[in-house]
Amino acid sequence: MHDCPTCGQPTSAGNYCVRCGAPQDLRLRRSRQRRQFAAAPRERRNAPWLVSTLFPQLPRHSERHFHIALAGAAALVIALGVLRLFAIALIGAALLMPLLTALYFYDVDIYEGEPRWASAWTLAWGTLAGVLVGLLANALAPSGPALIDKASTAHLVVGGVLLPLLGVGAALAGPIVLLRDRRFNETLDGASFGAVTAAAFAAAQAVVVGGGVLGSGLRAAGAAAPWVARLVTIAIASPVLSMSAVGSACAALWLRYRAPVSDRHALGLLGVPAIAVGLAGALAVAGAIAETFTAAGTWLAWMIVLDLLGLVLLRRAVHVGLLEEASEVAVGPPVSCANCGASGPSHTFCANCGVALKALPKVRRGGSPGLLAPARGSFAGRLEAELRGRRSGRRRLIAYGSSLTAVVAVGGAVAALAAPPPRRPRCARAQQCGRPPIEPRPASGFTGYQSWHSPALGYSLRFTAGDWTIASDTSTEVVLQAPDGLGLLTVDAARGAAITPAALIGRQRSSLQGQLLGLVRDTNQADQLLGAGVGLAAGSGSVYTATIASPQGPEAPVSVAIMAAGEGNLTISAVVVAPAENLDQKGTVFARADDVINSIQWPGR
Ligand SMILES: [Zn+2]
Ligand SMILES: [Zn+2]
Repeated sequence: MHDCPTCGQPTSAGNYCVRCGAPQDLRLRRSRQRRQFAAAPRERRNAPWLVSTLFPQLPRHSERHFHIALAGAAALVIALGVLRLFAIALIGAALLMPLLTALYFYDVDIYEGEPRWASAWTLAWGTLAGVLVGLLANALAPSGPALIDKASTAHLVVGGVLLPLLGVGAALAGPIVLLRDRRFNETLDGASFGAVTAAAFAAAQAVVVGGGVLGSGLRAAGAAAPWVARLVTIAIASPVLSMSAVGSACAALWLRYRAPVSDRHALGLLGVPAIAVGLAGALAVAGAIAETFTAAGTWLAWMIVLDLLGLVLLRRAVHVGLLEEASEVAVGPPVSCANCGASGPSHTFCANCGVALKALPKVRRGGSPGLLAPARGSFAGRLEAELRGRRSGRRRLIAYGSSLTAVVAVGGAVAALAAPPPRRPRCARAQQCGRPPIEPRPASGFTGYQSWHSPALGYSLRFTAGDWTIASDTSTEVVLQAPDGLGLLTVDAARGAAITPAALIGRQRSSLQGQLLGLVRDTNQADQLLGAGVGLAAGSGSVYTATIASPQGPEAPVSVAIMAAGEGNLTISAVVVAPAENLDQKGTVFARADDVINSIQWPGR
């Protein structure tokens, strides 16, 4: 026994002080200034490692399995995305983090010996809150011109600011209920409750919002690359941001209201409840709002930057929480550390590896009769066998892998059942069959024609007042929207010798690429345009499919037709957007749009 240079209390020989956790070869002002992370001393305090931050109670030897599980699941989601099985990949992506969290709970017996309702509560609350916020997101989903305008209020204010703030508030409310329970008085409890609730919330919200994609069948159409970026965001980047933001806010609350008085201000300004909660909200908004003006790949890169920031915040809170001082306790009998395996006195920190014993699995109460319950720090949860050299890791990985596969298989079965029947083209190309496929016009609802005239370019069109309303117009362009807001027709024109129909189509396509997820040519023979005229001028055009996506997730597939024609030096383009899932709705929107496009009058005709 000798005195620790940092805390001045007697401690045993070893690398770290068993009382304050400070390295014995250094004299620090406070032990929390040590550079080694209290839950994983081999890593730096401020290095944003994902597994040791989100799953701090995992003993060192099983971290590798978590890295394998995380990488394997991410590879599965990416492979499904590359194969363009988006509906299944979306389910797998949404459930990746919750399943990994469940594996963590199982491994380290997080709530063993504590009321079971606490774990059930966090999971159930997170899921319920995610479902409710997801349903609200669906109710507030963009319609009308906002369908293809990410700068609209529906995307920017509702999806980018209000829903993320509501999400953080809803996810925080569940754990805060547990703050009153004195059985959960460790900062690490708060961090776990927050992270688990946020993981369940993110998954439930992604599934509810993605309902439209899941309902579109096994093979939602779209380009693979933006989808893969989006899937990785849903699988890892988004849940990690929610988990670290909500987890660090909860950890700060626990530190303020549950820690010994001397440690309540250890986090400084970041530990002030209003600032911690505000920071969690700011992280969520910073993540969501970027989705409205960046492409899928850029957004993923931005989310990773925010993830690193969130992980550092959570890690600091966990570190400070674990380095609470416990100087009054006497040094106990020797235990063998579940993290490094070395034998040392039982107190607060392992003298050999410096891990905080509170960061190791809690001891199960009421063990086998006749045996002494192991001291905290020597117990490795269900990983105990592994610590003794037996390989239990494989079985857990197989369990994780098979549950993810089962989820993906169930997702695939649901998507296959929901798949619309295969369609056959009604008219073959280069074969006369009367007219282009036009749905019969509903008999009712005819309330007369309305016309619109472009003051700058002199062309005009007319539309049936019951079918369309003018959503917006300028001197060269008009946007018509269907009464339910799910169909959209934009007629635009430009004058100039250099502007060809092909150039105008290209411009419209690249504009839509920025607004919709995975815009790609629709190669289904049943969807092709049969002659793409504008007014009475022959032109060219193509059909595309894409998915409307909000910061909350991919929402619903749409079908897009872009066509253009030129006469003199004026070129007019028309863009039709219709829901892709519902063939009746889609047919009606296209037929009504066709009617308007045919009515276009060129100037001087
Ligand atoms: Zn010390
Ligand atoms: Zn140790």
